[in-house]
Amino acid sequence: MVDTQLEKRGIRDRRVLSAMLEIPREEFVPLESRLFAYQDAPIPIGEGQTISQPYMTALMAESLELRGSESVLEVGAGCGYAAAVLGELAARVTTLEIVPGLARQARENLRRTGRDRNVQVVHGDGSVGYAQGAPYDAITVAAGAPDVPAALVEQLNDPGVLVIPVGAMDDQELRVITLRDGHVESRVPTLCRFVPLRGGEGWK
Ligand code: SAH
Repeated sequence: MVDTQLEKRGIRDRRVLSAMLEIPREEFVPLESRLFAYQDAPIPIGEGQTISQPYMTALMAESLELRGSESVLEVGAGCGYAAAVLGELAARVTTLEIVPGLARQARENLRRTGRDRNVQVVHGDGSVGYAQGAPYDAITVAAGAPDVPAALVEQLNDPGVLVIPVGAMDDQELRVITLRDGHVESRVPTLCRFVPLRGGEGWK
């Protein structure tokens, strides 16, 4: 996976590549999907949700430019896989999940794989962020938003990076928004297709 799906497509950050070698992805997908855990595609994880394609998880993690000391917010824990990868790359991760059954599953997967030391799963609506832990050096959103929620920009540290899919319900652009010295810059490394962001600042 790391060689053919990630390095060949241009993922360069050695820390991201080794985190993805380290985290056992098969431990995060449902039992019946274990055989397909390393395939080049999203996989259903129940409740109509999916675990992202490995390349997308790597690209988003790389875009955050983590060095190890950061506090990270993830919106959309799903099964907890991306949170585990981020936990390898940063000091602290808080991940929000709106579906209670998935929040439980993510918590359980992180505990079983020994990744719960610096990764906290919170059941709640992450479309408005999580003010209790703000500011965050990096914020990543694993569901497609109609617009960039203002609360997420407000909860970003300066300097900080926010990665978020924005656009229509079934097809978005991945935006990488960088805040530095009060100045905001945005780039779009790729188009993408995420499940819809729900909640107050998501799709009604
Ligand atoms: N991070 C996961 C992918 C999760 S898929 C991975 O490791 O691959 C997106 C998740 O976002 C789904 O579980 C969905 O339930 C959740 N979600 C959607 N809207 C949300 C919101 N407003 N707050 C928190 N979670 C949300």
